[in-house]
Amino acid sequence: IIILGIESSCDDTSAAIIKNRTILSNVVAGQKVHEEYGGVVPELASRAHQQNIIPVVDLAIKRAGILKKDISAVAFTRGPGLLGSLLVGTSFAKGFSLASGIPLIEVNHLQGHVLALFINEKDKEYNPPQFPFLCLLVSGGNSQIILVRDYLDMEVIGQTIDDAAGEAFDKCAKVMGLPYPGGPHVDRLAKLGNPDRFEFSKPRIPNLDYSFSGLKTNFLYFLRDNLKEEPDFIEKNQEDLCASLQKTIIDILLAKLKKAAKQTGIKEITVAGGVSANSGLRNALQKSAKKYHWNLQIPKFEYTMDNAAMIAITGYFKFLNKEFVGQNVVPFARTQL
Ligand code: ATP
Ligand code: FE
Repeated sequence: IIILGIESSCDDTSAAIIKNRTILSNVVAGQKVHEEYGGVVPELASRAHQQNIIPVVDLAIKRAGILKKDISAVAFTRGPGLLGSLLVGTSFAKGFSLASGIPLIEVNHLQGHVLALFINEKDKEYNPPQFPFLCLLVSGGNSQIILVRDYLDMEVIGQTIDDAAGEAFDKCAKVMGLPYPGGPHVDRLAKLGNPDRFEFSKPRIPNLDYSFSGLKTNFLYFLRDNLKEEPDFIEKNQEDLCASLQKTIIDILLAKLKKAAKQTGIKEITVAGGVSANSGLRNALQKSAKKYHWNLQIPKFEYTMDNAAMIAITGYFKFLNKEFVGQNVVPFARTQL
């Protein structure tokens, strides 16, 4: 079974080819146009997707070393994401399915982030997580703890009531004057700083839910107060600010994940989404894994950020279940798992 995956939910146009569970190609075209705006501009994103989609798919097919007629089905991201961006991938996938006479498969982007853990790489060791497992899904738009019972059987047992962890990284980075998206820059600078230098507020909310908007406000006011006294406060303390901020976000994430592991008795722990690229989070997870005897699985860097490989692998599992959709399918800006 060979699946062509298409991802266009935000500002990356991506196409991938997967054969059963093995990745043959994964092409990602980022969009530089948004940099000067400090965030993704939806209208520019959909225009760039339109320019990128055909060359990106062509390249994915070429790199996979297959022919168009070898493809068994086309899977695309239906949502959640930016509607204009999703429309480009959805329309392309519909056209491709119609023209090639192959089935069309819709994929939930968040499910894709989770199932990225099952991507196999040629000639590499393959040890995917065992069911049931917990997945800490931390991305630009979501922070959730998901109980995964099977490939297509997932339940959100905790989630953010306001901002996502990635948003906390990006928004705090923005007030420090770092480029968008700020997460990777905070990660880089945090390595050089002292995580215990500053203390920021942590939310107190019940059960397994998260909240990050209080931290963002606290960080903003802290900078504002200090800038009054010291105009170059940010430049002077950038590394310590990043390290302390990152530590706070990680502490918040880990606290609820530990609670979830305890509550469910599950020791099979995974992480997914763009923020799982964060080196501090990876280290903290590894430490907890040792301490609590978790069997920890972290996806490869390449598959944590938005990519079509995760859409293709999800498409593969849906193909096995014959979960196809018709030409009347429409994208959703917001969807649940
Ligand atoms: P969603 O998947 O919820 O729709 P998204 O697709 O925009 O949102 P991803 O692409 O999964 O999110 O992740 C992007 C986020 O990951 C951004 O907020 C970015 O700052 C963050 N991020 C990426 N690398 C790192 C890192 N090393 N440290 C911290 N955050 C990071
Ligand atoms: Fe994403």
